[in-house]
Amino acid sequence: MTELVVLTGAASGIGRAAAEIFATQGASCLLLDRDAEGLARVAAALPGTHHVLACDLTDPASFAGIAQTVAGLGRVQVVANNAGMSDPSGVPMADQTMAQLDRLIALNLRAPAALVQALRPHMVPGARVVNVSSGAGLRAIPFRGAYSPTKAGVIGLTSALAASDSGLTATALCPGYVRTELVEGLIAAGRLDPAQAVTKVPMARMVSPAEMAQALVFLASAAAAPLGGQALSYDGGSSVFGGSITFSADQAAAPVAMDLATRFAVAGDDALAALLPATGDYEAQVDATALTADNALAAVHAAAARFAKAGPRHASLTLLLPPAPTDWIAAGDHAAAGMAIATLACEWGRSGLRINALQLRRPVPADALAGVLAWAGSARAQYLTGQVIPLGRPA
Ligand code: NAD
Repeated sequence: MTELVVLTGAASGIGRAAAEIFATQGASCLLLDRDAEGLARVAAALPGTHHVLACDLTDPASFAGIAQTVAGLGRVQVVANNAGMSDPSGVPMADQTMAQLDRLIALNLRAPAALVQALRPHMVPGARVVNVSSGAGLRAIPFRGAYSPTKAGVIGLTSALAASDSGLTATALCPGYVRTELVEGLIAAGRLDPAQAVTKVPMARMVSPAEMAQALVFLASAAAAPLGGQALSYDGGSSVFGGSITFSADQAAAPVAMDLATRFAVAGDDALAALLPATGDYEAQVDATALTADNALAAVHAAAARFAKAGPRHASLTLLLPPAPTDWIAAGDHAAAGMAIATLACEWGRSGLRINALQLRRPVPADALAGVLAWAGSARAQYLTGQVIPLGRPA
């Protein structure tokens, strides 16, 4: 029986780019959008056999029809809730009626939940749910109506879904500023200054829909299972930046090809080293020394100093961190280590150097760890920086 990727908002932007990657990987997709013509254009350009269904996801009546369509096609391997909208009206939140706010609530918050509920009986064991939130779900963006509240809601429901349903993996994606057609149009019309847009992005550039879609497709893969319940910020470091300086686009390292092979070098874990490729043009260092160090902060600093001294451009350093310690003095070092990673990401971002950490809340098998690293360390994740990503369910 066909295993399906069900993707919403597939007619444009991140959704269309994700459909292209899913199709190229050989997946069979059911593409949903209210834009019937756009959907047809996208589907016609994809390799393989796919299905489209034009529907309004703010209409609760749509979900029974979607479930019926799916029942006739196969089983669901992936649900990617990507459709979403902002509120450009500029009207202060307290001046909007609940009915006005409800346009965003219906699409951004209720529709992802309704789609998962409608498709749950049709999902394969271990199915993946990816809900597209936003950096706006982590920090408030004023004068956008319910945009930030609904995107925070998406993060909350995703972690609660993951905790309550062990039969699936649910993750949320928090994109930074994506250079979609809408954004390109605003730039072309002189209504958005791209130089201004990147001043708070440590990597000093916006990301393309194709790059963002790589993050969505990774979260939709079996390899992302250890991230279950998490919200992943994919934003060039903007979520961890404190705003003390401004970044400038003319200093930014241009992105490299996403399909560059990765050359991994692993310090402190031979089993992991054996599982990761050691030849390629994109350099990825993995450092496990903090797992056994007395002082996590000192271990992170030493690994970063070694990495920086080698002077690479366009490379990644991914640290493995132990669970948060219960000892309160060690807890201080642990928290400091996390912020050291964020600080280094902000200092290095313009040169394309990335630093992230995987925090092992529980022991994670080496092959599962290698699956996450194979993406996070690679050129496909070249906008991922400054993140401490917890793996495994909370202890
Ligand atoms: P987009 O506007 O290019 O695409 C959204 C798609 O959703 C469109 O094809 C639209 O027709 C469809 N859609 C809108 N309302 C619908 C409805 N009621 N029923 C069915 N389909 C509907 O958007 P994008 O920029 O690709 O954003 C995709 C997701 O990423 C959204 O959830 C958005 O909030 C989030 N996001 C985008 C950015 C960014 O900078 N573009 C940043 C953070 C988060």
